Amino acid sequence: MKTSMTNSRAARAVPTAPVPEGGTVFPFADYPAAGTATEVADGIFWVSLPVPFVGLKQVNLWLMRDSDGWAMIDSGYGRPAVREQLGDVWGTVLGGRPITRLILTHFHPDHAGNSGWVCERWGLRPYMSQGEWFAGNMARLDRDTDAFEARAAFYRRHGLSDARLEKFLTEALPYKDGVELPPDHRRLRNGDTIDIGGDLWRVVVGEGHSPEHISLYCAERRILIAGDQILPSITTNVSTWPVEPEFDAVGAFMATCRTFLDLLHPDTLILPSHRKPFRNVRHRLHELDAHHAARLNLLLANVPRETSAGEMIDVLFTPGLDGHQLGFAMGEAIAHLNHLTALGHLQMAEERSRVGYRRVGGMDAKVAPAFS
Ligand SMILES: [Zn+2]
Repeated sequence: MKTSMTNSRAARAVPTAPVPEGGTVFPFADYPAAGTATEVADGIFWVSLPVPFVGLKQVNLWLMRDSDGWAMIDSGYGRPAVREQLGDVWGTVLGGRPITRLILTHFHPDHAGNSGWVCERWGLRPYMSQGEWFAGNMARLDRDTDAFEARAAFYRRHGLSDARLEKFLTEALPYKDGVELPPDHRRLRNGDTIDIGGDLWRVVVGEGHSPEHISLYCAERRILIAGDQILPSITTNVSTWPVEPEFDAVGAFMATCRTFLDLLHPDTLILPSHRKPFRNVRHRLHELDAHHAARLNLLLANVPRETSAGEMIDVLFTPGLDGHQLGFAMGEAIAHLNHLTALGHLQMAEERSRVGYRRVGGMDAKVAPAFS
């Protein structure tokens, strides 16, 4: 049911606006230095903290001036050195006023890592979606991200070689090494509005990267706190996980991109969780659409009569991935194969020990970008 639903969403006919001219524009040349913050809009401060993942380098947090203190978006990866940097930032930005709210975009360790510590420090209960709350707790109970044996079995069925499985099992970083969660949460739902410093921010729930990812949009000020849902320069990880093996994560992610294309004013300032704030979001959304279409077509062109995700990661990714990246690469490959299945180009052939994908139709099949 799920796949056919996302299929119809992804494939629906779309009235198209012309692709905006020019590329993304980055109004701020430099990242804020360690222990400091950059004011990117009146009362909104940009904080950049280090993360231990190869290639990702850093994560952004946002401090927002509120009526009786400060609201903080996300909490950084859970490490003593990161907490020390965060303490320095508080010392320079808060002006002696307290953090009164912590809002988490999603459960991933670079976002929720220090949430337990922040909530303890300021006496808070974090605002987050319930899907993210459950996902974080499942991961900490070894039932999701940290279910390494189950993940390895899943990747083995999807054709990952023994050598790569070994690499994954020895090198993947456990979620709970970088995360302490608070004991409870305050639920945010899609469409809720939050008043921060007199501005109304609308909660937009997105799918495809994490279960119920939250972005915040202030239409009045034309600012989006995007989380990981819209990133510049790099693309968001869109993975299928063993707990929902048939999930069409690519279809769900692109449906969320479509929501943003319809919702956001073209001049919106985007505050992403990684890399730098940027403008010209419509251009970026069209770029992401073209990127995923190109990846899907690359797969289609390389699928013989039948294939597996394990074979296709060599088509999708350059060699040399470490064990942590291999897990994400398999998740992405399965997600793209599931999307091609949802679009009717492939058929999933699931056996007890093996999951393959069979080609349906001719070798000249193509996927068109969804937005044009
Ligand atoms: Zn994330």
